[in-house]
Amino acid sequence: MEKIRAAGLLRTRGLIGGQWVDAYDGKTIEVQNPATGEVLANVACMGNRETADAITSANTTFYTWSKLTASERSKALRKWIFLLTVYIPQRHDLLMSHKEELALLMTLEQGKPMKEALGEVNYGASFIEFFAEEAKRVYGDIIPPTLADRRLLVLKQPIGVVGAITPWNFPLAMITRKVGPALACGCTVVVKPSEFTPLTALAAADLALQAGIPAGALNVVMGNAPEIGDELMQSTQVRKITFTGSTAVGKKLMAGSANTVKKVSLELGGNAPCIVFDDADIDVAVKGSLAAKFRNSGQTCVCANRILVQEGIYEKFASAFVKAVQSLQVGNGLEESTSQVANPSFGSVDMIPVGPAYKCTHEKNPGWTTASGHLGPVRISSTIQLPEKRARSDPNGSALRIQLLENERPAVQFCGAAPAQLRKNEKQELLEITFYSFFHMQGPLINEAAVEKVEKFVGDATSKGANIMLGGKRHSLGMSFYEPTVVGNVSNDMLLFREEVFGPVAPLIPFKTEEEAIHLANDTNAGLAAYMFTKSIARSWRVSGALEYGLVGVNEGLISTEVAPFGGVKQSGLGREGSKYGMDDYLEIKYVCMGNLG
Ligand code: NAD
Repeated sequence: MEKIRAAGLLRTRGLIGGQWVDAYDGKTIEVQNPATGEVLANVACMGNRETADAITSANTTFYTWSKLTASERSKALRKWIFLLTVYIPQRHDLLMSHKEELALLMTLEQGKPMKEALGEVNYGASFIEFFAEEAKRVYGDIIPPTLADRRLLVLKQPIGVVGAITPWNFPLAMITRKVGPALACGCTVVVKPSEFTPLTALAAADLALQAGIPAGALNVVMGNAPEIGDELMQSTQVRKITFTGSTAVGKKLMAGSANTVKKVSLELGGNAPCIVFDDADIDVAVKGSLAAKFRNSGQTCVCANRILVQEGIYEKFASAFVKAVQSLQVGNGLEESTSQVANPSFGSVDMIPVGPAYKCTHEKNPGWTTASGHLGPVRISSTIQLPEKRARSDPNGSALRIQLLENERPAVQFCGAAPAQLRKNEKQELLEITFYSFFHMQGPLINEAAVEKVEKFVGDATSKGANIMLGGKRHSLGMSFYEPTVVGNVSNDMLLFREEVFGPVAPLIPFKTEEEAIHLANDTNAGLAAYMFTKSIARSWRVSGALEYGLVGVNEGLISTEVAPFGGVKQSGLGREGSKYGMDDYLEIKYVCMGNLG
């Protein structure tokens, strides 16, 4: 915490109208490190009165912030991105990025390993970056009139004050995915972060203030969730609630918003199927399922919760998958050993060949190995050494892009949203690029209640005939660490199938036919993400069409990006975040009819 304090980013009071404010009754709540139990800070425990003031402040600021041009708002948002990450330093060279401190805060209060937290800072900033630009392209329309002396216009205007309620599993990105488009469109926001992870939210809000986002445009209140939620729902000044969290709370917010006919968008729980067909590339399927399931200790709404495996390859897949899961390192996310060990189950540098061959080394496999091409959003930890004159880095935006040059011309582009480190070797001849995996490491679960839930689900499965293939119990590290677990022969009467486990447990479910796989996949009230692994293009089309889900990954386990729509169907939510579709929720459409124009 010393590092955070030294950077001036340890904020424990709420932010209302640009002022750091204690709870009016002086109450505080503890924020704990789930890996150690250490109390990190006592933060203000706010309720309806503070929320009412935050709403008033957001409402007042709306009248000025919404009058700025999109380009003016974009400038402030870009400065914020720089403070969050490292961005366009030539324009803001007097400012310092706080990426490390933000990642550290996330690891401390949420538990995810540092490298994963660094990835979240990039991912979180990518939403601000995307929407800072996208808002400049919010156009209205001119409708051909039915009478000659009329002009019919369609305007798009910011909706007003937005209440944003966010969960703990992505303490930064779930906020920026809402606040980015809201501010870019001209709305003002009252954010209520999770009581488990308020410190990241407060630090990010501090940086927004420093970046010049005006006082009152972004307010943060935290503490008594039902009181804050009630105030946001009942206020006529709040025009929209945007929520990410559990389906149960989402339903309450939807019902509570009816009284003021507020717009509501909901990103709720998932129960993602991951279908491995017998024509899949087993290696790709193992890596994809591993990434989709174990990221963030399985505490992700798009986690591959139910791995459906076709009978013919069930044994082969299960044995390769168990081996891969076995190699996950469990520990405190702050320990380097937790976050920098390559996954030994993968022997070579993990790239898909698409261009001319380049030589690379792998830290676990030091012999030269030939690899080239696209480095997907997250791959295993690998160190690549390249002659400097044949590589050019372009840290443009949130993703790291490295172009390999052939005769001075870009030949191959490596692209990674994964954390990466670039440095030259001592003789300055080689450019060394180290990519880190998100998913070969595993931190603790958020708290004891989360571990108890996992235990209940695993106990239910074994009592109904499932078999533990790996793990299945608390980790010897104690606290809320749980062993990476694989459970075989899971069926649709078990809790592990029916509900979101939100922990590091991968259930394997055998199936016979494509029809049965689709039926099992859709046999849930959730409809957020689904994955499938197959080499057949026809099957990819067929099955992705039949899956009742908002996002589908084909031969890929990590598919979220700021440029694509994110959101669920059925009881997984309403609306979409990210991409051009993510703007619509923050805009109202107004029709203007101009008559008697002569
Ligand atoms: P949660 O619903 O318990 O809490 C989410 C937020 O709602 C927190 O800030 C919490 O304080 C607040 N809250 C709780 N009760 C409230 C009330 N009565 N009124 C107003 N606010 C209230 O969820 P969580 O445990 O923080 O997050 C995990 C859940 O979030 C999982 O179900 C996960 O799938 C889901 N999630 C969904 C997405 C998505 O994009 N669909 C992303 C991340 C997490």
